Amino acid sequence: CSEVSTVVSQIIALPCVALSIQLEVLYHALMPDSLNHLPVHPLWQSPLTIPGGTRQSPINIQWRDSVYDPFLKPLKISYDPTTCLHIWNNGYSFLVEFDDSTDRSIIDGGPLENQYRLKQFHFHWGAMNDWGSEHTVDCKFYPAELHLVHWNAVLYPTFEEAVMEGNGLAVIGVFLKLGACHEGLQTLVDALPAVKHKDTVIEFDVFDPSCLIPSCPDYWTYAGSLTTPPLTESVTWIIKKQPIEVDENQLEAFRMLLFTSDGEEEKRMVDNFRPLQPLMNRTVRSSFQSRHLLNAEVQPKDHAEQMRP
Ligand SMILES: [Zn+2]
Repeated sequence: CSEVSTVVSQIIALPCVALSIQLEVLYHALMPDSLNHLPVHPLWQSPLTIPGGTRQSPINIQWRDSVYDPFLKPLKISYDPTTCLHIWNNGYSFLVEFDDSTDRSIIDGGPLENQYRLKQFHFHWGAMNDWGSEHTVDCKFYPAELHLVHWNAVLYPTFEEAVMEGNGLAVIGVFLKLGACHEGLQTLVDALPAVKHKDTVIEFDVFDPSCLIPSCPDYWTYAGSLTTPPLTESVTWIIKKQPIEVDENQLEAFRMLLFTSDGEEEKRMVDNFRPLQPLMNRTVRSSFQSRHLLNAEVQPKDHAEQMRP
């Protein structure tokens, strides 16, 4: 059992999967013309080694197609800053990891039936500000996206087991947009030069990631997957509607990180997002009643239909 856990941990850390041609066609059909040639990370360029599922992530959230669910509760977040342990450059992103041996940093409520423990958070970002997020809203990319990864310690004994189960994980997604300097994020940004190379780890104790979660309670939720191997369909996604603001220097600090180890030819850590996946037979629920239609951009009808495989 522990061998399986170790293998799963390694798989999560190792880039090795890519996108089928059909998915890539769909992905490009979803993009506005100006974003039709987004860079694709090598992880997603070779033949797909894991069979496509029916609830893969990320997805485009089509605002007007999301369904208000009045039974969705507010999300409750309770993090203990002293559970923060370290920052690890894993060669695809940097992970801020937490002590998850007890229920000290947890979320519950929202769409969740159990309490979930914080395991780690990380970001995805682009080489430019025009893209970088994994999820999109009405086909709009943000320059970066934060993922706070939690696991269901009520039903499963370990994170590695929760990763493999349908209701094992809950990930909060927060979009980053360009604006004012984010003081909470800056503490983290200041530490990044020390994990510039792949496989470097530094201690990073006492950090409360709730400072990175916007105050507006509104969110979308849907059933999806991990966006890195093993791509298991174990994630309840909770995507916050309101983005947080970060400034150009903070995004540039992300882009100074490297995919590569010390001594290798340097490759900047940018464009570490998975391409969009088909919605299939899923509904995105919202915790809020939408007034979006009042000022929505009208999508051409045939374009909207392309979104539905
Ligand atoms: Zn992620």
